[in-house]
Amino acid sequence: MDLVSESSPPASNAKAPTTTTVNGVGGGGGSNSVVASRYENQKRRDWNTFCQYLRNHRPPLSLNLCSGAHVLEFLHYLDQFGKTKVHNHNCPFFGLPNPPAPCPCPLRQAWGSLDALIGRLRAAYEENGGRPESNPFGARAVRIYLRDVRDFQAKARGVSYEKKRKRPKPKVNNNGCAMSAAATTTT
Ligand SMILES: [Zn+2]
Repeated sequence: MDLVSESSPPASNAKAPTTTTVNGVGGGGGSNSVVASRYENQKRRDWNTFCQYLRNHRPPLSLNLCSGAHVLEFLHYLDQFGKTKVHNHNCPFFGLPNPPAPCPCPLRQAWGSLDALIGRLRAAYEENGGRPESNPFGARAVRIYLRDVRDFQAKARGVSYEKKRKRPKPKVNNNGCAMSAAATTTT
């Protein structure tokens, strides 16, 4: 199979032509290419991580045998490195955006991270010679899983991913909980 595919990968905006200078020394390089090469670097790291995961897999797994189910395994594996608290159904803080106390619920990969990761790996797979029609990162099971993660984390963490752009958060009273019925002076 040929490495060059006729269709360019979707999300990314053009390859960065110069990837060598990470911290440009005062050159007039556009910030655009910095962003692009950061994306490329991240994508390469993600790809290496995934390939390493395949090498360590028991039983061994080669890339062309990799299916959506294996991608899901990989995502579960990554959860142990997650930093996002996701409350269980039976946790008293389930659905609270800012819980007042610690709880034993697990840390997970945030949905946004997984979603971006899958996007990068999907592109990397095809750049590394994989056929788009057999791209495991584009598998239906992976899409469904990500959607479920998004929905559950939205509930568990009390945040909505849908309405993000609605308004920029109306100055929550962080320090001086003014609204919390202080000294209810009825009568
Ligand atoms: Zn919890």
